[in-house]
Amino acid sequence: MEINFECKKCGGIFDSDVGAVSVSEDSFRPQFENEIICPKCGQRSIDDVLLTELGQSQLTEATFDFELEDIFDSEDDELNGFGFYEGECQGCDIFQSLNDLGLCEECAGKLDRDLIRQRDWVYSVSAFGVPESKLEDLRKEIIKHYGEKLELIAPTNRTQKKSKKKKRKKKRSGKRR
Ligand SMILES: [Zn+2]
Ligand SMILES: [Zn+2]
Repeated sequence: MEINFECKKCGGIFDSDVGAVSVSEDSFRPQFENEIICPKCGQRSIDDVLLTELGQSQLTEATFDFELEDIFDSEDDELNGFGFYEGECQGCDIFQSLNDLGLCEECAGKLDRDLIRQRDWVYSVSAFGVPESKLEDLRKEIIKHYGEKLELIAPTNRTQKKSKKKKRKKKRSGKRR
Protein backbone atom coordinates (compact mmCIF):
# COMPACT_ATOMS: atom_id res chain seq x y z
CA MET A 1 0.00 0.00 0.00
CA GLU A 2 1.05 3.59 -0.52
CA ILE A 3 1.79 5.82 2.44
CA ASN A 4 2.38 9.55 2.35
CA PHE A 5 5.66 10.63 3.97
CA GLU A 6 7.69 13.78 4.48
CA CYS A 7 11.43 13.38 3.99
CA LYS A 8 13.40 14.82 6.92
CA LYS A 9 16.42 15.49 4.70
CA CYS A 10 14.91 17.33 1.73
CA GLY A 11 11.53 18.21 3.19
CA GLY A 12 9.78 16.74 0.19
CA ILE A 13 6.39 15.10 0.53
CA PHE A 14 5.95 11.86 -1.40
CA ASP A 15 3.98 8.63 -1.62
CA SER A 16 5.94 5.45 -1.17
CA ASP A 17 4.66 1.95 -1.83
CA VAL A 18 5.63 0.22 1.40
CA GLY A 19 3.94 -3.09 0.61
CA ALA A 20 2.36 -4.86 3.54
CA VAL A 21 2.20 -3.02 6.86
CA SER A 22 2.53 -4.70 10.22
CA VAL A 23 3.19 -3.54 13.74
CA SER A 24 6.29 -4.64 15.61
CA GLU A 25 5.28 -6.58 18.70
CA ASP A 26 8.25 -5.27 20.72
CA SER A 27 8.29 -1.60 19.89
CA PHE A 28 4.73 -1.17 18.55
CA ARG A 29 6.24 0.70 15.65
CA PRO A 30 4.95 0.10 12.15
CA GLN A 31 7.00 -2.22 9.96
CA PHE A 32 6.93 -2.06 6.19
CA GLU A 33 7.53 -4.81 3.71
CA ASN A 34 9.31 -2.51 1.22
CA GLU A 35 11.86 0.27 1.74
CA ILE A 36 10.64 3.83 1.89
CA ILE A 37 11.96 5.62 -1.18
CA CYS A 38 12.20 9.41 -1.34
CA PRO A 39 12.14 10.47 -5.01
CA LYS A 40 15.07 12.84 -4.31
CA CYS A 41 17.14 11.13 -1.64
CA GLY A 42 16.44 7.49 -2.44
CA GLN A 43 16.10 4.85 0.23
CA ARG A 44 15.12 6.19 3.64
CA SER A 45 14.75 4.45 6.97
CA ILE A 46 11.64 5.00 9.04
CA ASP A 47 13.67 7.40 11.21
CA ASP A 48 14.56 9.55 8.20
CA VAL A 49 10.96 10.38 7.38
CA LEU A 50 7.90 11.84 9.06
CA LEU A 51 4.33 10.71 8.54
CA THR A 52 2.17 13.41 7.04
CA GLU A 53 -1.39 13.75 8.27
CA LEU A 54 -2.54 11.74 5.29
CA GLY A 55 0.15 9.15 5.99
CA GLN A 56 -1.00 8.85 9.58
CA SER A 57 -4.56 8.10 8.63
CA GLN A 58 -3.39 5.70 5.93
CA LEU A 59 -1.27 3.89 8.48
CA THR A 60 -4.04 3.82 11.05
CA GLU A 61 -6.34 2.29 8.48
CA ALA A 62 -3.76 -0.31 7.56
CA THR A 63 -2.87 -1.37 11.09
CA PHE A 64 -6.38 -1.23 12.47
CA ASP A 65 -8.02 -2.97 9.57
CA PHE A 66 -9.81 -5.52 11.65
CA GLU A 67 -11.13 -3.11 14.23
CA LEU A 68 -12.40 -0.82 11.50
CA GLU A 69 -14.24 -3.68 9.82
CA ASP A 70 -15.92 -4.51 13.10
CA ILE A 71 -17.08 -0.96 13.52
CA PHE A 72 -18.52 -0.82 10.03
CA ASP A 73 -20.34 -4.09 10.56
CA SER A 74 -22.09 -2.92 13.68
CA GLU A 75 -23.12 0.31 11.98
CA ASP A 76 -24.70 -1.70 9.22
CA ASP A 77 -26.67 -3.72 11.72
CA GLU A 78 -28.09 -0.60 13.23
CA LEU A 79 -29.25 0.65 9.86
CA ASN A 80 -30.88 -2.53 8.59
CA GLY A 81 -32.01 -4.28 11.72
CA PHE A 82 -34.29 -2.56 14.12
CA GLY A 83 -31.64 -2.39 16.78
CA PHE A 84 -32.09 1.31 17.30
CA TYR A 85 -33.32 0.76 20.81
CA GLU A 86 -35.54 -1.57 22.77
CA GLY A 87 -38.93 -0.57 23.98
CA GLU A 88 -42.69 -0.82 23.68
CA CYS A 89 -43.74 -0.51 20.06
CA GLN A 90 -46.02 2.51 19.48
CA GLY A 91 -48.09 0.35 17.12
CA CYS A 92 -48.56 -3.02 18.79
CA ASP A 93 -47.37 -2.39 22.39
CA ILE A 94 -45.00 -5.35 22.26
CA PHE A 95 -41.62 -4.87 23.90
CA GLN A 96 -38.94 -5.36 21.25
CA SER A 97 -36.33 -3.71 19.05
CA LEU A 98 -37.65 -0.47 17.60
CA ASN A 99 -36.62 1.92 14.87
CA ASP A 100 -36.15 5.64 15.37
CA LEU A 101 -39.93 6.21 15.20
CA GLY A 102 -40.56 3.85 18.12
CA LEU A 103 -42.05 1.18 15.86
CA CYS A 104 -41.15 -2.46 15.47
CA GLU A 105 -40.22 -3.79 12.06
CA GLU A 106 -43.71 -5.10 11.37
CA CYS A 107 -45.48 -1.91 12.41
CA ALA A 108 -42.97 0.20 10.51
CA GLY A 109 -43.96 -1.75 7.41
CA LYS A 110 -47.64 -1.22 8.15
CA LEU A 111 -47.12 2.49 8.67
CA ASP A 112 -45.20 2.74 5.45
CA ARG A 113 -48.02 1.05 3.54
CA ASP A 114 -50.59 3.29 5.25
CA LEU A 115 -48.65 6.36 4.20
CA ILE A 116 -48.69 5.14 0.63
CA ARG A 117 -52.43 4.34 0.82
CA GLN A 118 -53.02 7.92 2.01
CA ARG A 119 -50.60 9.25 -0.64
CA ASP A 120 -48.33 10.70 2.04
CA TRP A 121 -45.43 9.98 -0.26
CA VAL A 122 -43.00 12.29 1.46
CA TYR A 123 -43.12 10.32 4.72
CA SER A 124 -42.91 6.89 3.15
CA VAL A 125 -39.59 5.05 3.07
CA SER A 126 -40.69 2.88 0.13
CA ALA A 127 -41.81 5.86 -1.93
CA PHE A 128 -38.51 7.64 -1.37
CA GLY A 129 -36.81 8.28 -4.69
CA VAL A 130 -39.70 6.84 -6.70
CA PRO A 131 -40.54 9.06 -9.66
CA GLU A 132 -43.85 10.87 -9.33
CA SER A 133 -45.33 9.09 -12.33
CA LYS A 134 -44.71 5.72 -10.63
CA LEU A 135 -46.15 6.59 -7.23
CA GLU A 136 -49.72 5.61 -8.15
CA ASP A 137 -48.42 2.30 -9.48
CA LEU A 138 -46.66 1.73 -6.18
CA ARG A 139 -49.89 2.46 -4.33
CA LYS A 140 -51.82 0.05 -6.56
CA GLU A 141 -49.21 -2.65 -5.88
CA ILE A 142 -49.51 -2.14 -2.12
CA ILE A 143 -53.32 -2.30 -2.23
CA LYS A 144 -53.21 -5.36 -4.45
CA HIS A 145 -50.99 -7.19 -1.95
CA TYR A 146 -52.15 -5.84 1.38
CA GLY A 147 -55.66 -4.46 0.74
CA GLU A 148 -57.01 -0.94 0.88
CA LYS A 149 -57.72 -0.85 4.63
CA LEU A 150 -55.35 1.15 6.81
CA GLU A 151 -53.25 -1.15 8.97
CA LEU A 152 -51.74 1.16 11.55
CA ILE A 153 -52.94 4.72 11.17
CA ALA A 154 -56.31 5.15 12.83
CA PRO A 155 -58.90 6.57 10.43
CA THR A 156 -59.36 10.24 11.33
CA ASN A 157 -62.36 11.77 13.18
CA ARG A 158 -64.03 8.72 14.65
CA THR A 159 -61.15 7.39 16.70
CA GLN A 160 -59.21 10.59 17.06
CA LYS A 161 -60.24 11.13 20.66
CA LYS A 162 -59.33 7.63 21.60
CA SER A 163 -55.91 7.70 20.08
CA LYS A 164 -55.11 11.02 21.73
CA LYS A 165 -55.88 9.60 25.13
CA LYS A 166 -53.72 6.61 24.38
CA LYS A 167 -50.78 8.78 23.44
CA ARG A 168 -50.90 10.76 26.68
CA LYS A 169 -50.92 7.59 28.71
CA LYS A 170 -47.92 6.31 26.85
CA LYS A 171 -45.95 9.47 27.47
CA ARG A 172 -46.45 9.23 31.19
CA SER A 173 -45.42 5.60 31.35
CA GLY A 174 -42.37 6.47 29.29
CA LYS A 175 -41.23 8.96 31.91
CA ARG A 176 -41.53 6.48 34.70
CA ARG A 177 -39.28 4.02 32.89
ZN1 LIG B 1 14.34 13.39 0.51
ZN1 LIG C 1 -45.22 -3.12 16.52
